[in-house]
Amino acid sequence: MIQLKGIAASDGIAIAKAYRLVQPDLTFTKITIQDIDAEQQRLVAALEKTEEELAAIQRLTHEKLGEEEAAIFGAHLLVVKDPELIGPIKQKIADEAVNAEYALSEISAMFVSLFENMDDEYMSERAADIKDVSNRVLAHLLGVHIPNPSKISEQVIIVANDLTPSETAQLDRNFVLGFTTDIGGRTSHSAIMARSLEIPAVVGTGTATTSIQDGDLLIVDGLTGDVLVNPAENVVATYRKKVENFTVQQAEWATLLHGKTISKDGVQVELAANIGSPNDLEGVLRHGGEGIGLYRTEFLYMGRENLPSEDEQFTAYKMVLEGMEGKAVVIRTLDIGGDKNLPYLPLQDEMNPFLGHRAIRLCLDHQDIFRTQLRALLRASNYGNLKIMFPMIATLQEFRDAKGILLEEKENLLAKGVAVSEQIEIGIMVEIPSTAVMADIFAKEVDFFSIGTNDLIQYTMAADRMNEKVSYLYQPYNPAILRLVKIVIDAAHKEKKWAGMCGEMAGDEYAVPLLLGLGLDEFSMSATSILKTRSLIKKLAVADMQALATEALQLATSDEVFDKVKQAVN
Ligand code: PEP
Ligand code: MG
Repeated sequence: MIQLKGIAASDGIAIAKAYRLVQPDLTFTKITIQDIDAEQQRLVAALEKTEEELAAIQRLTHEKLGEEEAAIFGAHLLVVKDPELIGPIKQKIADEAVNAEYALSEISAMFVSLFENMDDEYMSERAADIKDVSNRVLAHLLGVHIPNPSKISEQVIIVANDLTPSETAQLDRNFVLGFTTDIGGRTSHSAIMARSLEIPAVVGTGTATTSIQDGDLLIVDGLTGDVLVNPAENVVATYRKKVENFTVQQAEWATLLHGKTISKDGVQVELAANIGSPNDLEGVLRHGGEGIGLYRTEFLYMGRENLPSEDEQFTAYKMVLEGMEGKAVVIRTLDIGGDKNLPYLPLQDEMNPFLGHRAIRLCLDHQDIFRTQLRALLRASNYGNLKIMFPMIATLQEFRDAKGILLEEKENLLAKGVAVSEQIEIGIMVEIPSTAVMADIFAKEVDFFSIGTNDLIQYTMAADRMNEKVSYLYQPYNPAILRLVKIVIDAAHKEKKWAGMCGEMAGDEYAVPLLLGLGLDEFSMSATSILKTRSLIKKLAVADMQALATEALQLATSDEVFDKVKQAVN
């Protein structure tokens, strides 16, 4: 048995066989060939296999995820049959007596660069299609296997270097029982998605893809961060018992489903959920969410080939607002960039994407995209209790500009006779230290704050949230972070505004006592953490937690704070 240690990223324990979602090595050498006919036949055979494979993936994706998701494979099928692409490849084999791998790579690279340089959205999508199809054909020529998660039809645990948010979103919960990755941290988006899909996950193991083979029996313990490879029978039995215990604990928490969240000394706070799609609503209600504290709308834009239309967005937002039946729903405007990209909106490669052109910065530059989203939100506002939140605000001017555009779109709609709610609150994420420090100034103009600790910690500690080598600097209990959080909460309260938190820290059992003491009004977290947190808060007295927080703010290190909290709550 091999044991790997990673970061516990999503609660629960999964026991199943490994499915490696690892891109194969597609390198080859250029060879001069003797038999041109035979080489062209090799190419044709690889094209046929690719076509069969794409048709199967298209069918399965259609069955499991729907027509829209399957459409991309329709486009790929057109590429694999396109005579304007295939003809020149065959010609190159004949003219230059080169192997099919070389001819294919050269010709497809030529088309890709041609299309990419056209600065046209449709053409850059075609470039992406050609790249993808050409890799598949190359894999068949080389006799290696390209994994495809939509083809999984038995229960497995996914093993990957990393999972992009869109790959994670495509995982079928009926078959994918858990996952483990080489890289990533607790706040990487694949980890966040795992929690919303309620799939146990361990990320940042460093060596999952090199230590685990397809078909190995795995135990992924998302509670401790352990991954066991080919464990002995008795170990499996112990873990099956652990699964049972976890289920019993969950049943206990479930008794708190319909109650409010009130501390031992009678202070009520709100426990809301973070979601990425209307599909997550069912889980929010099942886990007793009192509202939505963060709807990450970018997932609506991902895993597809074009921008979602205003109506499509309106439908999604309306669904969430109606589903929550008048409870608060904080919808965050598009936060793309960083580790989340849109294939159809090519962004410049950046040295530091997390410090780059992302979120509100990108929206203020691409106002057409931003305005479409704002109109959809404003129209949906009639169906519930909508609060609009701008991400990654670093300066007051950005907030004023974003709010100005929102109000312009509102006026335009009203002028056209479209109803818009008058009750919409407009707030910001506080996830950049400059904004936390200036919270007193912001508090005069915003309706609320939601502290995004995933980014606030990465920017305060200068530690990339995707890099497991610096994950030790993800320190929610560090007094530096606690002091920033206190500044934000106090500034909000001084202006009679509310302060929430939607970063992962809000659902962390050792941070919750401190946040309660600091006066946080709303805690927004993965739905699966809500009942556990409600159970915890019921056992804590705010007055005691205030004393604890005051002490913690004066301590020197994260470890000292952690130990202090542990002593206080255990
Ligand atoms: C955060 O930064 O804390 C946050 C909630 O936003 P995201 O994780 O989507 O960047
Ligand atoms: Mg963020």
